[in-house]
Amino acid sequence: MTLAARHIDTPRPMLIGGELLGGSGAQPALVSINPATGEVNHRVAAAGAAELELAVATATHAAQAASWRQMLPPQRAGLLHRVGELMLRDADALARLQMIENGKVWSECVAQVKSAAATFRYYAAVCETLGSELTPSRGNYLSMTLHEPYGVVAAITPWNSPLTMEAQKVAPALAAGNAVILKPSEVTPSTALELGRIALEAGLPAGLLNVLPGTGAGVGAALVAHPGVKMVSFTGGTASGRRIAEAAASKLMPVALELGGKSPHIVFDDADLHAAVDAVVGGIFEGSGQSCVAGSRLFVQRGVYAQVLDLLVTRARALKVDLPDAAGAQMGPIATFAHRDRIESMVAAARAAGADVLTGGARPSDERLAAGAFYLPTVLGHIDNRAAIAQQEVFGPVLCVMPFDTEDELIAQANDSAFGLAAGIWTADFPRAWRVARALEAGTVWVNTYKQLSIATPFGGFKDSGLGREKGLTGLRLYQQAKGVYFGLGG
Ligand code: NAD
Repeated sequence: MTLAARHIDTPRPMLIGGELLGGSGAQPALVSINPATGEVNHRVAAAGAAELELAVATATHAAQAASWRQMLPPQRAGLLHRVGELMLRDADALARLQMIENGKVWSECVAQVKSAAATFRYYAAVCETLGSELTPSRGNYLSMTLHEPYGVVAAITPWNSPLTMEAQKVAPALAAGNAVILKPSEVTPSTALELGRIALEAGLPAGLLNVLPGTGAGVGAALVAHPGVKMVSFTGGTASGRRIAEAAASKLMPVALELGGKSPHIVFDDADLHAAVDAVVGGIFEGSGQSCVAGSRLFVQRGVYAQVLDLLVTRARALKVDLPDAAGAQMGPIATFAHRDRIESMVAAARAAGADVLTGGARPSDERLAAGAFYLPTVLGHIDNRAAIAQQEVFGPVLCVMPFDTEDELIAQANDSAFGLAAGIWTADFPRAWRVARALEAGTVWVNTYKQLSIATPFGGFKDSGLGREKGLTGLRLYQQAKGVYFGLGG
């Protein structure tokens, strides 16, 4: 057996109670595939019922330990800060691991590691500075609100931006005083394991961050249903989110759900069209369109429709689709072959229903990319907003372009969607931008910019795009429950 084969045959262990465990083997190991080449990266041990029981018991014990419950904010903040520092130290290795598991281009992987490290630093600062409130007295007593952790929090993450999502849940949940069981996507289990290793190295007490790779229907569902798990923070598809919410309802357990989107990107006829088209291209094709906030429905005011379409198609054709580590690559592959097939079939159905494929709609012809799950940036015209391709989340590099005439008509169409995650508006008319931003049903609205995200600003969805808000100060309170305490002052 060659060295490489031996490496692949030994599944990477999971992390429970500070120990790296191979697992009982009751569940088949996950196979991590490089979507740019189709090659096997490595295998990862999958958790089953026995590992779940152990992780919940360990996390419960760690969450209740006096050393963690009574740890002063500066000490807890110090641990989180150290995690961020170590992530930066290991940035290249983390970025590479993400790149070979989900195929995002190198520059984006590096940016995402930096963003994840910054999230740990941000929540270290929040942890150290956030106070509790003395509430206005209504009598001869002192009343105050304390914020206490739930205990064991389950964090369940998708494959498109694994490390960013993991940091966005783990950092505030720990800052809030919980223990965490992290269940990463079966497609990208490895960055979560590295995060667990780094947290241990940073000095986080064992058992406060456990990582259980495995399937959603298997260990994911069992984790949500487990009575020892007191809160779930989930990012992923709307169908999975609905199942998790149903399971949580029967336990009366709080959930935070960051789900899918079909975000409208709107260009009025007075906009800076070059800047707008740049943002439209980045908003849909960055990450091969595998972004929850992808601006996948483009509404262009009729007077500039032809001009915008022209600029857009030229820009889309010029994008460099390549191996993710190739110099200048702007779009890598789709994260899995199955997902590429799904995108292809959605575009085929749209075409059959009358959509015009203005560019893309196919795999690249470049022989070097033939073994990977690549798909070209695709622009579809001649579409009605009620068409399936304009209503369903493709989660790929597919943009639907539609003209509009009036502001009222635009708002009605933009809001005519089950989703409500994000929206973008391009116009030089600020009163109009304000009116439209207020009227749009979306958790985030960008004006003359797109995909601008800040860890300090709450993020989440309206309608089928989710429940609750991550990020910002509220992103820490998400992982705490309020307790009122009254001190009688006599008399
Ligand atoms: P997915 O729903 O298939 O899986 C997400 C995670 O949930 C995985 O870890 C999976 O194993 C787990 N899971 C699936 N079913 C489960 C169940 N019944 N119980 C417990 N866990 C379960 O989503 P995906 O395909 O990995 O990711 C793509 C989706 O995520 C897209 O819809 C995208 O819009 C969404 N997303 C949303 C945001 C956001 O912030 N709103 C961010 C990124 C991705």
